[in-house]
Amino acid sequence: MKTYDVMVIGSGFAGMAASLFAARRGLSVVQTGATGGIDFSTGFIDLLAVHPIAEQRVWMDPFAALAQLRRDLPAHPYCRVTDEEIVLALTEFTEFLGNQGLCYRGRAGRNTATLTSAGTMKPTYLLPCSAWNGVEAWESKARTLIVDFHGHKGLSARQIAEVRGASWPGLQVARVAFPGMSGELYPEHMAWSMADPGRRAELAAAVAPLAGDVDFVGFPAILGMTETSAVLRHLEELLGKRIFEIPTLPPSIAGPRLRAAFDKGLPGLGVRTCTQKLITNVEYGEDTFRFTAGSGSTAIELSARSAILASGRFFGKGLKADRMRIEEAVFDLPVRQPKTRSSWHRAAFFDPRGHEVNQAGVETDELLRPLGADGNVFHPRLHAAGAILAHQDWMRMKCGAGLAIATAYKAVTGLRDAL
Ligand SMILES: Cc1cc2nc3c(=O)[nH]c(=O)nc-3n(C[C@H](O)[C@H](O)[C@H](O)COP(=O)(O)OP(=O)(O)OC[C@H]3O[C@@H](n4cnc5c(N)ncnc54)[C@H](O)[C@@H]3O)c2cc1C
Repeated sequence: MKTYDVMVIGSGFAGMAASLFAARRGLSVVQTGATGGIDFSTGFIDLLAVHPIAEQRVWMDPFAALAQLRRDLPAHPYCRVTDEEIVLALTEFTEFLGNQGLCYRGRAGRNTATLTSAGTMKPTYLLPCSAWNGVEAWESKARTLIVDFHGHKGLSARQIAEVRGASWPGLQVARVAFPGMSGELYPEHMAWSMADPGRRAELAAAVAPLAGDVDFVGFPAILGMTETSAVLRHLEELLGKRIFEIPTLPPSIAGPRLRAAFDKGLPGLGVRTCTQKLITNVEYGEDTFRFTAGSGSTAIELSARSAILASGRFFGKGLKADRMRIEEAVFDLPVRQPKTRSSWHRAAFFDPRGHEVNQAGVETDELLRPLGADGNVFHPRLHAAGAILAHQDWMRMKCGAGLAIATAYKAVTGLRDAL
């Protein structure tokens, strides 16, 4: 059996980033994982926008926010990575995506307020280029038409206009039939159908009479699965308007687009991916980890000299909970968690301080190596990255993908030195 340099456990933002960074540094990589947060994400890469959570303070300079966070929360995983490492990680990650045809854009050192399907403006750090014209339309309060479709539930143009109306008087809305489809519409089907230039022409023909005096047209994010920039360009030519996408409610196609980019790019870097397989057993000695991925007749045995645990929290299945206790699912690592079940959640669901259970996770040393029950490093060649790390509430701090990518970068740096 081949012994890989690294087993990456997880195929969310943290696992994908870890596989990419490790493979590009010449390590042999095997990756396992199934559906996780990335499949439901908007595609935005948040770095840090809210701190402290209790004050709901919003920052447009994420690096100023990081400096404050590091002063206030010394156990937060962002204290384990430097600003320089964050910038390098995000640059390498988005350059890779760009090379796979999934372009990202942002402003160096600044968050950008970005339109969501709810009509709110969300501060994020990097966003798909296909959404960028929406930023410019909003910032200049340009005459803009937002289009939605009969039978598609992921985005309501009318709701966006109701929320934004007073602050964006030039906003107009329209609902049209999506070409070639009827009944309930699914974003993935819609996106694949946009590969056909004839369908794009039909879409443009349906929208053109409604878009007379506007400069921008916004669509739900369904404009192509793998060649979005080509679809956008073609629609811009056909309509003579600047086009942008708005991420839809989950399940959106941001996740499938990201997966498609990794599916296309990682094998070329030599990464072996075992999709839709979870690690069901692990044995380890000083030199090697032996994993079972999957169960029953399709289970496979894998061997690696080191591992990165990027298995997420409850949604990703990296953590599991019974009524009293939270456990880590692969190594049974100690999980930092509220002392009692009754303190998992505060009484009010929307309590601005958040809930203690949302900061549960594994504790690590400076190099992101998980700690064992005795407080020492559990294994010198096991690192952790992403949502499974304790002391952070990525959802409320708006730092999900950024934290995952940055800690994956740090974990790979650490394990490369340990091999
Ligand atoms: C609805 C939604 C919207 C979001 N929107 C944004 C956004 O706008 N911006 C942003 O920055 N972030 C967003 N996120 C967060 C982001 O997608 C990630 O959830 C987050 O960054 C954490 O990534 P992760 O890789 O650590 O964990 P996850 O994405 O949860 O991935 C965990 C991975 O580990 C795998 N795994 C678990 N157990 C095992 C096992 N035993 N063996 C092998 N593999 C295992 C899972 O199958 C999965 O592939 C959103 C998340 C959700 C759910």
